[in-house]
Amino acid sequence: MFLARIFTLYPEFFPGPLGKGLYGKALSEKIWKLDTVNIRDYATDKHKTVDDTTYGGGSGMLIKPDVLANSLDSNLNSNEKIIYLSPKGKLFNQELAKKLCKEKTINLICGHFEGVDQRVIESRNIEEVSIGDFILSGGESAAFVMLDSIIRLLPGVLGNEISVEEESFENGLLEYPQYTKPQIWEKKTVPDVLLSGDHAKIKDWRLSQSEAITRDRRPDLWQKYKKN
Ligand code: SAH
Repeated sequence: MFLARIFTLYPEFFPGPLGKGLYGKALSEKIWKLDTVNIRDYATDKHKTVDDTTYGGGSGMLIKPDVLANSLDSNLNSNEKIIYLSPKGKLFNQELAKKLCKEKTINLICGHFEGVDQRVIESRNIEEVSIGDFILSGGESAAFVMLDSIIRLLPGVLGNEISVEEESFENGLLEYPQYTKPQIWEKKTVPDVLLSGDHAKIKDWRLSQSEAITRDRRPDLWQKYKKN
């Protein structure tokens, strides 16, 4: 069973959307499990203080190192991966999702305010991961994004495993356009080739569409694809 342990100030946000549909079913089938740890439970003063002002000035607050470390040390087993969701982190992508779905347990720290004290990141060997070049108010929504993409890769979660393999990024390209019934909708018809029943031709058409879309929209992916 894959365990996601979330360190957060808002445990009530979870499992949220991840508890629904196929993912909810997979939860009850024990394919995966979600634990939340409320960082605030590890504050030691009577006001349950989790944050404090930054050294060197600035208006923001940071999550205190002692409180965060205490929450980690009280819940982790040795050698588990710890990830802090952070705009400074390495960019999350499908490749990392595939790597992380092979772990037994991942620990995700959701920051708030201006973030967390740097010393915890270093002392507990925490990896920083970003979901994109923008700033969120907290790490929870980033944790949802990461988990959503990881859970669908766990064996048994999606009914149709083939659909995972043909998606955008799997071959370094964006996906080709797709169509369903009715065949004519608002006077627009489906491309003829898809109705031809000629599987080799359909494969070629899809590849050329994927290439054109990738070249047009994502020059970065296109350069990498051409090199390989
Ligand atoms: N001062 C920080 C931003 C703090 S945003 C900086 O400039 O780097 C508050 C929290 O939201 C962070 O602690 C982090 O957990 C989360 N967060 C914000 N943007 C994120 C992103 N792009 N990816 C992952 N987590 C993010």
